[in-house]
Amino acid sequence: MRIALIHIAQETNDFNPVLTTLEDYRAFGIEEGAAISGDKRGTSQIDGYFDAAERWVSSVETIPVIRAWAVAGGRISREAFDFFQDKIRRGLEAAGPIDGLALQLHGACAAEGIDDVEGEQAELCRSMVGDDVPIVAALDHHANITRKLVDQCTAIVGHRTQPHDLYDTGRIGAELLFRIVAGEVSPVTAWRKIPLLSHQEQFLTSQGPMKIWFDRARAMEQDPRVLQASNYPMQPWLDVAEGGWSTVVVTDNDQALSDKLADELADLAWSMRADFQVREAVPVDEAVRMADQADKGIVVLSDTGDTVFGGAAGDSNVILESILRLGIDSKVLIPLISPATVARLAEAGEGARVTLPLGGDSAGAFFSPLEVTGTVRCVADGSRVKVGYNYQDHVDMGRVVVFDVGPATMLISEKRGVAGNLPDAYKAFGVDPVGYKAAVVKTASNFQYFAPIASQVIRVDTPGPGQSDVHGLPWARIPRPVYPLDTIEDWRQIDS
Ligand SMILES: [Zn+2]
Repeated sequence: MRIALIHIAQETNDFNPVLTTLEDYRAFGIEEGAAISGDKRGTSQIDGYFDAAERWVSSVETIPVIRAWAVAGGRISREAFDFFQDKIRRGLEAAGPIDGLALQLHGACAAEGIDDVEGEQAELCRSMVGDDVPIVAALDHHANITRKLVDQCTAIVGHRTQPHDLYDTGRIGAELLFRIVAGEVSPVTAWRKIPLLSHQEQFLTSQGPMKIWFDRARAMEQDPRVLQASNYPMQPWLDVAEGGWSTVVVTDNDQALSDKLADELADLAWSMRADFQVREAVPVDEAVRMADQADKGIVVLSDTGDTVFGGAAGDSNVILESILRLGIDSKVLIPLISPATVARLAEAGEGARVTLPLGGDSAGAFFSPLEVTGTVRCVADGSRVKVGYNYQDHVDMGRVVVFDVGPATMLISEKRGVAGNLPDAYKAFGVDPVGYKAAVVKTASNFQYFAPIASQVIRVDTPGPGQSDVHGLPWARIPRPVYPLDTIEDWRQIDS
């Protein structure tokens, strides 16, 4: 069988006003055609696909079209959207007749003027391959499932765990596609939109209500008629028409069963809607004092509001402000993304003592610049920082400045890269995280990179485009009513 493979992904944070451009995708690498192969680390969705293809009972000829990924951020530019539409069109044209399409997308990407990027991409793919060629979309489970996406795809699969298991999703999407192409199964889908959103503090699938919800989906898949039962707790910063949580159940030609199970999963999520809202984040000053007084480091301070991995801009100075105001003297690592600050400090040069306004230069609705005085420790080229992240061996952080402000060692970068979420990002610039009492990370859930050297994680209740206080976000487009912003008795009352 001949299978075309497309992987295009970005998670959009609508409350970060900085557009994600093609340059951002290029910073993580855009590959086309034969250049796309598994990286053999067994961690990427592409790897999962290729391993499944290799193991399939008959020979699978893969026609890779494009692989592009950018770290979460603001809406993608219209230019980037058009670029990928063009690549899809040309790639599928050049592919010739195919038997199936493996479409690996994120599911929560929005562009300038376009709420449902994946729906548009799936529609284009469908128009190119025709009605008879199966398309299986493999999505991040924080996707926003839309009518268009469901209508254009033969089946949809999603991540089954958080932390995200990309390989697993690539594999199960591929295996389902091969089974469909081989005529082994005839997928029918039921999906339910639930008028629900939640912050991410209960998003780990290993505990709490998310575990109960995801475990139930796994249990459903024990029935061989069930090809995929997936839950989609939409990431909480996507302000789009049709926004909200969903469930998707795909069975082998049993619509009644699909419907029954999709209803059951929606009912289960709805019954736990208050549990999903439970917050654990600690007020900023309290979190900073806890870190300072901890017996040992490294205390990971999760800057939830400014989560770069959740698409925030990375310009928050809120935790730094607290540390300086409280006179904390424990050594702490803090990342910051600010091209303008890098330019200013690079010009001042290594060893220079500089007073300048720091932070608050991107997400102005949440932060204001803070005047600080510090010393430039180093100015460096960060265009190839060696870190194992996603499918990269290196990430492009642009120019990087290490800037010492009081007890804080700041890693200030031009580009988003991995912010300071991986210890290797510091090591690349001569800063050994071991020996620091605390490290601020710009992620609210990806603590696995610091875990080997961390003593504890404290979620800090910080404001920002990724903040846990969903009531305080400037929602404009999400359909209302939606829980918990509004009171709703039954999720079915708004079911479309
Ligand atoms: Zn996700």
